Amino acid sequence: MIPYGRQHITQEDINAVIRTLNSDFLTQGPQIDIFEELIAKYCGCKYAVAVSSATAALHLACLVTNLHSEDEVWTSPNSFVASANCALYTGAKVKFVDIDSVTYNMSIDTLIKQLEFSRHSKSLPKVLIPVHFSGQSCDMKEIYELKKKYDFKIIEDASHAIGGLYQGKPIGSCEYSDMTVFSFHPVKIITTGEGGMITTNNEEYYKKLIQLRTHGITRDPKNMTTETEGPWYYQQIELGFNYRITDIQAALGISQLKRIDEYVLKRNTLAERYHEKLNKLPLVLPTVLSDRLSSYHLYVVQLSDEAKISRGHCFNELRNANIGVNVHYIPIHLQPYYQNLGFKVGDYPVSEAYYTNAISLPLYPGLTLDAQDYIINTLYNLLK
Ligand SMILES: *Cc1c(COP(=O)(O)O)cnc(C)c1O
Repeated sequence: MIPYGRQHITQEDINAVIRTLNSDFLTQGPQIDIFEELIAKYCGCKYAVAVSSATAALHLACLVTNLHSEDEVWTSPNSFVASANCALYTGAKVKFVDIDSVTYNMSIDTLIKQLEFSRHSKSLPKVLIPVHFSGQSCDMKEIYELKKKYDFKIIEDASHAIGGLYQGKPIGSCEYSDMTVFSFHPVKIITTGEGGMITTNNEEYYKKLIQLRTHGITRDPKNMTTETEGPWYYQQIELGFNYRITDIQAALGISQLKRIDEYVLKRNTLAERYHEKLNKLPLVLPTVLSDRLSSYHLYVVQLSDEAKISRGHCFNELRNANIGVNVHYIPIHLQPYYQNLGFKVGDYPVSEAYYTNAISLPLYPGLTLDAQDYIINTLYNLLK
């Protein structure tokens, strides 16, 4: 089976992991600091905090914004469930903002309408989590203008999008947000096995994130409530978690980061090739706006109205041909857990219509041109 996404591991990556296994530290060692510094430098932001997953990163980012049980968090329905679950972990309420039908990101027009409506009903969000779907940035400048007007915090869920650019700046620079979250799951752009990162320019957030990652504990006498009792002494200041990444994972991340631009370029080249060869078929192909570079985590096509077969049929035929297509995403609000919270079919119609027709084609740096041609030819035979 050709998978829809796959990690790319080199001998250099393997050597880096082995060096760490032979070192003094398997966790909380020097590799984590180096990984964080390199990511901060790559993104052009002040601080980076590595954690055990993007889900952990989203949870901590929500916590440091001081969410309480009456607060609302708004995110995109066209995302992985973690983008919304992170708000529920803090006790806050979740609402969604429907997507636009061009980028499949949160629609700015819908967001404006929803904010205006919520201002009257006094239910404005405390935190907005735009998701850079498939690796293409949301309209961050517009969202930032709305933040100034309506006073919410912005956490970018850039789990798909490390290596992408928005108006020439790296995603993760936090120029138009309070924090940005990345995922290093193996299907994402670079991997640490499991892993995540939060970037920010806010020193206060940075210090809190570091503390919450390790149980809410501090070893820095400056942060203690009393004089330190000795070199062994630490204090738990707040209720945190064990959300640490290991040194083994960080070593892999450092090694992978060296090839990030190569990976993004390769993904873009393959996407371009899909584009050229599929544009005669009854498919809606992805659109990347001119002021951004997508990291192309996903290449999603939608069956258009002219297609003679259904999405389900097309999907099954591709799977039968050993092509590991996938669907991103089942709208979060349609999950049984969210329907139990009161969401229902019809709440976010653009994301639902998109979902009905979407298929993610295989796209990853190791996808060979032969394999890609086989996928393209199979689609031709199905749809022509
Ligand atoms: C993968 C993903 C996550 C979760 O990432 P993990 O590192 O697996 O926790 C969150 N949000 C989006 C949009 C994702 O694609």
